[in-house]
Amino acid sequence: MAEGFNLTGKTALVTGASQGLGRRFAEVLADKGAAAAVAARQTDKLASLAAEIEGRGGTALPVAMDVTDVAAIEQAVIDIEAALGGIDILVNNAGVAITKPFLDQEPEDYDAVVDTNLRGCFFVAQRVARRMVERGAGSIINIASVLGQDVIGQVTPYCASKAGLLHLTRAMGAELAKTGVRVNAIAPGYIETPMNQAFFQSPAGEKMIARKVPVGRLGAPADLDGALLLLASDASSYMTGTAITVDGGFVLS
Ligand code: NAD
Repeated sequence: MAEGFNLTGKTALVTGASQGLGRRFAEVLADKGAAAAVAARQTDKLASLAAEIEGRGGTALPVAMDVTDVAAIEQAVIDIEAALGGIDILVNNAGVAITKPFLDQEPEDYDAVVDTNLRGCFFVAQRVARRMVERGAGSIINIASVLGQDVIGQVTPYCASKAGLLHLTRAMGAELAKTGVRVNAIAPGYIETPMNQAFFQSPAGEKMIARKVPVGRLGAPADLDGALLLLASDASSYMTGTAITVDGGFVLS
């Protein structure tokens, strides 16, 4: 894990924390001293994460939140503030992809992806930012994707949602710049998580990594630790409205 960042006294909220990158983000922030509110649609899925964080001496608060439900977001923010104090760091991580040819994507496929990846991030960020602006400080980190700038086939709503999220990051960053609230994004390349494990273990997945990733390997969740801690901490106090790409050179290929 990246050395030298101290988040003691901060409160972080990570959405979609039950598995994959969100789980890793919560662990890393908690290990650096932040009290971690870990959110998922079902809190029972957060029990092992909370136990792990608490077992290492950290603080974890499991919170129920479906990011497509604005009332649930509102309630979660109230509950977190009551238990842990104001949210200093938001990691807008919850996301879904539906893999189908463009010609076969149904309205419900499009809605599920865009409602989670773009509308969800918008309203979680808005509800949290309202409180951050009152306190005059905060860091919002949107988890976008290299597919917001580059494209591959069969995930058209996903590509559109992540491009939208990168532009939302710029628009929010600009609008909030004078408030003390910073808004940045991480654009990961291919990182092994439950979302994509089966594909990357298949011959087609292995071929794609060899062809498309210049450094020649699939990323691990820990490869995002440095970007996460930079954006979460005051080390990035002069950064807003920007994105850090962490992709082993994918966008170069
Ligand atoms: P994942 O499927 O393992 O995790 C996604 C998480 O989001 C899950 O915990 C899921 O339950 C949660 N989630 C989905 N819909 C939700 C909703 N409506 N409300 C609350 N939570 C919800 O995937 P991951 O690979 O860990 O992806 C995490 C984020 O990183 C996503 O935004 C994804 O688009 C992005 N990303 C991943 C990769 C990669 O290669 N893994 C690359 C680029 C971007």
